[in-house]
Amino acid sequence: MVKKAPAQKSSQKRVSELRALIEHHNHLYHGLDTPEVSDAEYDALVRELQGLEADNPDLFSVASPTQSVGATASTTFDPVQHSVPMTSLDNAMDTVELGAWGERVAKGLSGAAAEFVCELKIDGLAVSIRYENGVLVQAATRGDGKVGEDVTANVSTIAVIPKKLTAVNGTVPDVLEVRGEVYMPFAAFEKFKKQKEEENVVRIAAGKKPEAVPVNPRNAGAGSLRQKNAEVTASRELAFWAYQLGETQGVPEFTTHKESLEYLTALGFAINPSITVVSTIEEVNAFCAHWQNKRDTLQYEIDGAVVKVNSLPQREVLGFTSRAPRWAIAFKFPPEERTTILRDIQVSVGRTGRTTPFAVLEPVFVGGSTVGMATLHNRAQVALKDVRPGDTVVVRKAGDVIPEVVGPVLAKRPKNSVPWEFPTHCACPLHTELVQVDGEADTRCIDEQCPFQRDQRIIYFASRGGMDIEGLGERTVLSLSDLEFVEDVGDIYALTEEQLLQIEGFGALSAQKLLAAIDASRHRPLPKLLTALGIKHLGPAASESLSLAFGNLDVIASASADDLASIDGVGGVIAASITKWFEQPANKKIIEKMRTAGVDFGNVERTSLPQVLAGKAVVVTGTLNGFSREEAEAAVKLRGGKSPGSVSAKTYAVVVGAEPGASKLTKAEQLGVPILNEEMFLALLETGEI
Ligand code: NAD
Repeated sequence: MVKKAPAQKSSQKRVSELRALIEHHNHLYHGLDTPEVSDAEYDALVRELQGLEADNPDLFSVASPTQSVGATASTTFDPVQHSVPMTSLDNAMDTVELGAWGERVAKGLSGAAAEFVCELKIDGLAVSIRYENGVLVQAATRGDGKVGEDVTANVSTIAVIPKKLTAVNGTVPDVLEVRGEVYMPFAAFEKFKKQKEEENVVRIAAGKKPEAVPVNPRNAGAGSLRQKNAEVTASRELAFWAYQLGETQGVPEFTTHKESLEYLTALGFAINPSITVVSTIEEVNAFCAHWQNKRDTLQYEIDGAVVKVNSLPQREVLGFTSRAPRWAIAFKFPPEERTTILRDIQVSVGRTGRTTPFAVLEPVFVGGSTVGMATLHNRAQVALKDVRPGDTVVVRKAGDVIPEVVGPVLAKRPKNSVPWEFPTHCACPLHTELVQVDGEADTRCIDEQCPFQRDQRIIYFASRGGMDIEGLGERTVLSLSDLEFVEDVGDIYALTEEQLLQIEGFGALSAQKLLAAIDASRHRPLPKLLTALGIKHLGPAASESLSLAFGNLDVIASASADDLASIDGVGGVIAASITKWFEQPANKKIIEKMRTAGVDFGNVERTSLPQVLAGKAVVVTGTLNGFSREEAEAAVKLRGGKSPGSVSAKTYAVVVGAEPGASKLTKAEQLGVPILNEEMFLALLETGEI
């Protein structure tokens, strides 16, 4: 027997390890719909195994998970033999890999030009639905590609899937298998998750163990479809996009994939509207880049794009590997979800006393950056999610959104873990009791003297959204506060070079620069100054309206609540908060300190906004982070636009926040009115264009 070199021996060990691990994750993901690791971590294991198998051909095995599709069908459902196998897809992680696939296709076609159909990669569960003489007779999951699970009763409950086909030119096909993705739209997922979380609160209160709450729509959708009791499936509001034909008899002859999709549309199937035919890999790249940026605008989860050769004869030439077609590739978007360890839960206190629990994490690369902290929003959310220090948790970071902890991986919870308790007192030296006002989600420190709040008010004042004082960031403010040089925002204007030089790391140059920045801030426009004061409920849009209407800080300070409330975009709550703020002696002192320091209270000239939305109607629905509803509407009006309460064909765009009105959303979708998230809304306010 030939002895193996040590390196090869260790490769062999790692290959066995990886195969076992991947099989384990396949079973959890495909069989039980409860994965323990994120897709990105799973993909990394598969890639490592593929690399080792490529470098060590003698370790190749047909039984390796790199050669197979999905996982063996579970025994909960009757088996269904697929007449045409349901394959997986090879994937490309970046444009280089996509380009390499394009070259392989060109080579396989001996250089002949190819058209590509670009589709969204819907993150759901693949099913094959069989129709005989136009009637739905069977539906099956993919299983291992050859044998799937009979989910006919479950699939029949999905409203968008036709039970009978529409005749095309007076006929229906003798046999038609349609393949597509069953998925759970975000709105249905949120509803389902909320219901599960609420059930868990009751369970925990009764001393029972919480049940796993699905962390993403994919697992929720797959779990909801693969239910023994189809009534449960019916209650979960699943949807379906068709994207491929399986076995067919008695259908027209097609020469392209696009034609087959058009035929499916005519038969009554929902085909995703984004599908685009292009003729170069550059255009494929552009499609992928476009949807990678816009994925948050969709009402369902995608994890990439699928690119397919359009010509069916060319597909014949290219053929299949053991597990995937050579004529298609999945372009995977960078991961927005990862798992990591939750080291601790801490609570920060904001400028209004609002507490925010946040997770201290084992740093993890997700959504394009390394994340070590993530928000847990509020007390109720921590209880609902029941995340505990020591847990393995799913962390999500989508686009520029703040990273958040989605939920725990219960299978990995340490045995001795106990629910985390929200602190009863503020961690600041005053140790004030934390209060949860009835009906409010937030728990607050109500002592305005709380040094944590005080520091945050100063940080906010100096921040870009406020007086924009460069060099006066969080670290510097905290140092100045520790040195007792600033107690409130009025003290900023009395700072001296001598004092600044006492800050660690500050030299003459940085001190002079900061003093110059403070000096420049004396002349900021009134809306900036008003926003910077950090008055509860008062954001930039209402500050803008008030500045235009009253013209001077002193006039606003002495206006009655009724006068303030009469301004567009202000309203009673904001008005009451403003009058209360200006009445407080501590705040009166701040105003006087600023007056003495020469801060301009009446700079409104530079605030008149470009009327970029003139003639455009923008409807706002749901809760936004940075604006109240009134503020968002006022922001539109201040730029010349209209903000009506309902959607019509004339609506230019609909801005959608959390928990939007279903009728507005549906109407917008039906009429093809662009739907914008908050980030896109900000861009719209800036440019007037989508
Ligand atoms: P895949 O998900 O990368 O690609 C194939 C699947 O894409 C198809 O079966 C179909 O369901 C889907 N799809 C969506 N839109 C499509 C479209 N327009 N056209 C064609 N197909 C479309 O491959 P896979 O073999 O199904 O699964 C592997 C992937 O599943 C992994 O890359 C990983 O993301 C995930 N996974 C995760 C775990 C885990 O533990 N987290 C375990 C196993 C698999």
